[in-house]
Amino acid sequence: MIHSLWFRLLIAFTLVIVVTAGTVYLFVSRSIAGELERYEAIRKQIYMLETQDIVSSHFRRQWSWEGVQSVVGNRSREYETRIILTDFGGLVIADSEEELSAGEQYQPESPDPYLSSLFSVYSEDWEEEITLRLYIGSDLLIGEGGASPQTLAEAINRFLLWGILLAVGIALAWTFVLSRRMSLPIRALAVTARRLGRGELSQRVQLRERGEVQELAEAFNAMASDLEHAEQLRRNLVADVAHELRTPLSNVRGYLEAIHDGVMTPDVATVGSLNEEVALLSRLVDELQELSLAEAGELKLVYQAEDIARLINQTLAAWQPQMTAKGLSLSLHLPDGLPPVSIDWQRIGQVLHNLLENAVAHTRSGGTVTVAAIRQGNWVEISVSDTGEGIPREDLPNIFERFYRVDRSRTRATGGSGLGLTIARRLVEAHGGKIEARSKTGKGSRFSFTVPVSR
Ligand code: ADP
Repeated sequence: MIHSLWFRLLIAFTLVIVVTAGTVYLFVSRSIAGELERYEAIRKQIYMLETQDIVSSHFRRQWSWEGVQSVVGNRSREYETRIILTDFGGLVIADSEEELSAGEQYQPESPDPYLSSLFSVYSEDWEEEITLRLYIGSDLLIGEGGASPQTLAEAINRFLLWGILLAVGIALAWTFVLSRRMSLPIRALAVTARRLGRGELSQRVQLRERGEVQELAEAFNAMASDLEHAEQLRRNLVADVAHELRTPLSNVRGYLEAIHDGVMTPDVATVGSLNEEVALLSRLVDELQELSLAEAGELKLVYQAEDIARLINQTLAAWQPQMTAKGLSLSLHLPDGLPPVSIDWQRIGQVLHNLLENAVAHTRSGGTVTVAAIRQGNWVEISVSDTGEGIPREDLPNIFERFYRVDRSRTRATGGSGLGLTIARRLVEAHGGKIEARSKTGKGSRFSFTVPVSR
């Protein structure tokens, strides 16, 4: 639980939310307090000036204090605060609460709970000026029947606090849901990975998530598919190898049993047939080993700058007698000035050899085998074409697969293991090149591959 992803996310989110909300609360409540203080100070000043004005104009009208008590009383009721008016010497003229009577000496308490200000009244009619002092309570309420600044600040803070608590509550609930949702797909992945590990290779994760998690799930599923495919290949390989070995082995066994039972005599012909079967077997084993090395990327290739024309001529020279014997003519197209190519001489020779072997095997007497090389940018393309039987269109995509033969029944007649093209493709790909086949049944086939120009 403590180490689970969703719990950690929850804790992390909670911390962030609480810290953010706390900071917001602190700053907002502080600035509200400051603003309210400023507002209050200004308001009191305005109230003071307005009150001075009201008192002055009342006095100027008659140059006497008659009726000032009710003026002050009315004014004080507006904001529910006490107003005291004295002359310069501190003798009370009016008190809104009527606690002090006119003429009484007013001595403010210390500290003074009132704001006070001096102001003077001048009458043009009387050409006289007198100075007065006004005290107003510092507990002005906001608006008629309104709240004091403190209560207002408290109310605002309370609202703020509740708002923040509500927001934090909602955020936490949402975080809880979200963090669970985020961790669910990861758990699903873990469960599926465990099942895959136990060998249930058809397992896939089904997620409705988007974004990175979906990418992860897709990559995971792709990996599972690859694994399944590889496992399928491995099984097929074992089945194929067993199948390929069975025929020559049962032939050898047949010969040996016949000799043992005295049905056959171990003469030169029988030994020759036995030898042929064993040669086929050892070739199969050699090719399988080579293929497995190539597929594991463990073939030791020695790249050198080589003359491809020389390699082609050398390989063709080895095939010339067989071609002549079969009545095949050879057409060779080697342009002058082919650049040196970076290849492993042996391996590319082997690719060429395989292609020629197929061309010769699948072309009837009177046909032509054409070998050509041509430069294509940084590559040299080598092609082997024949005018043989061709490959049916539906087989063409498969001929580079291991043990694939177009005509299964003819394996022995042609002597092919079905691995030649598979190995050729691996070797060409190890050089960074590509191998391709084009063919038309009855017309012939063209195999081509590329090798890199040496720098
Ligand atoms: P094999 O050892 O049987 O020749 P390959 O891998 O070399 O195996 O070739 C696979 C199959 O492709 C062959 O069995 C054959 O049916 C077909 N094939 C290859 N080359 C040719 C060609 N030049 N003409 C017709 N069919 C071909």
